[in-house]
Amino acid sequence: MLFRQLFDSESSTYTYLIANLTLKVAVLVDPVLEQVERDLKLLKELDLSLRYCLETHIHADHITGSGKLRELTGCLSIVPHNAAADCANRHIQDKEILNLGNIVVEAIATPGHTDSHMAYLINGDRILTGDALFIRGCGRTDFQSGDAGTLYDSVTQRLFTLPDSTLVYPAHDYRGHTVSTIGEEKRWNSRFAGRERASFIRLMNNLDLPDPKKMMEAIPANKLCGNVATL
Ligand code: FE
Repeated sequence: MLFRQLFDSESSTYTYLIANLTLKVAVLVDPVLEQVERDLKLLKELDLSLRYCLETHIHADHITGSGKLRELTGCLSIVPHNAAADCANRHIQDKEILNLGNIVVEAIATPGHTDSHMAYLINGDRILTGDALFIRGCGRTDFQSGDAGTLYDSVTQRLFTLPDSTLVYPAHDYRGHTVSTIGEEKRWNSRFAGRERASFIRLMNNLDLPDPKKMMEAIPANKLCGNVATL
């Protein structure tokens, strides 16, 4: 398996490229519109054909590259069950599995940051946590039908129940981290470690964060798979 973590510095977004090198097929998770050229070049250099673009959720801070990549490669765009993106080829359900030959990508419903959010467990030993769980942090819950209690339940019941050795790959990082483990986050993530549900809700409801700069353009565009030309 090829597994690559790619970074967009403007939005601090991680995009993941996962590929089966025998079948020469790939999936991109959370591609960013401004990085489509980078991603296409890498796919070409590695002689991979893009089968799927997969979203963890409808993003508010950047425009997805999935519509553009679909147009240019013929890949299928997949979004979480219930995500308001009719443009997608497919909506993926909790526990549903995508295969790239022997590579297994399992969707794990982890709502709370948004009301439709999936984490993706890759081959059982690494998880793309989207904005549900960051390294020593978590996604905000104050817009897009986010809900702090729901996020607490998702993280503690669906992610922290994975083996401690499971590698954690988030959709964003703002402090220079790249990877963690479930065991490390259970111990050192101050949003969750030793914190009850009510205390987490209080904390999240008092963060008082500014709206993401691109929110007003990103959410409507992402409901159209990032196809900004039709807005
Ligand atoms: Fe997000």
